[in-house]
Amino acid sequence: MLTPFRELLEERRSAGAAVGAFTCYDVTTALGVVRAAEARNDPVILLVSEASVACEEGRLLAPALLAVAREARVPTCVELDHTADRELIAAALAAGIGAVMADGSKLPLDENTALVRSVRGVAVDAGVEAELGHVEGGENVAAAASAGAFTDPEEAVAFVDATGADCLAVSIGNVHGRYATTPALDWARLAEIRRRIDIPLSLHGASGLPDADVRRAIELGVTKVNVNTEIRGRYFDELERRLPDVRDGLRLLELQRSVVSAVADVVSAKLDLLSPR
Ligand SMILES: [Zn+2]
Repeated sequence: MLTPFRELLEERRSAGAAVGAFTCYDVTTALGVVRAAEARNDPVILLVSEASVACEEGRLLAPALLAVAREARVPTCVELDHTADRELIAAALAAGIGAVMADGSKLPLDENTALVRSVRGVAVDAGVEAELGHVEGGENVAAAASAGAFTDPEEAVAFVDATGADCLAVSIGNVHGRYATTPALDWARLAEIRRRIDIPLSLHGASGLPDADVRRAIELGVTKVNVNTEIRGRYFDELERRLPDVRDGLRLLELQRSVVSAVADVVSAKLDLLSPR
């Protein structure tokens, strides 16, 4: 069932858990994510990437994911992930998307603030996630950590006040993509941000973070965890594993079902971590 972003985050926060947000490149992935969430009776967020919606046929993906979310038997929200493109955001909101991540973290602070504030103004019922400091992508954590600005707790207070964001993505040594070495997250910084601001916090780049780190982040107040790389990896592994067999007879439906269940496996393991019971 479609559920408002804020409601979903608040429910997870009061449960002492985090919601998993999983990047869906197609309906097959989305079905795997929803099946896993339904099996555990956990809420879930389906993420759609800027690259996915920016291509010509991309305008069809958000409505397709919304259809999957509507049919889901657990609270589900569809969010447009990282974008600073106001036109894409407007189109996604017009399509009925549940949340957008207005990401101006690569911009100067005043432009980031202006972007999020303007999106807040047009989002009305939809949730708005913002990022302060910048979560780098890439494999070298040390380089990424030194190049990416960590979230400044004091700046975060003013930023949240000025923008009216519903959720803040923090940069505390986490990176997008694969980690080449185990990252050393800045726990004191996370605790200080949590102490000073009241809205839910999100942790991006959770693929490959040690389980203990993800748990600790949740204990310290993270309410939303984004996962992308691990799902894509599993998707490809499953295609590779099944192709030699299903190619015979062109059993496409069977291949799709296998991918749905492989995605569900990886999502289920992640949800175990995010909603301990
Ligand atoms: Zn991200």
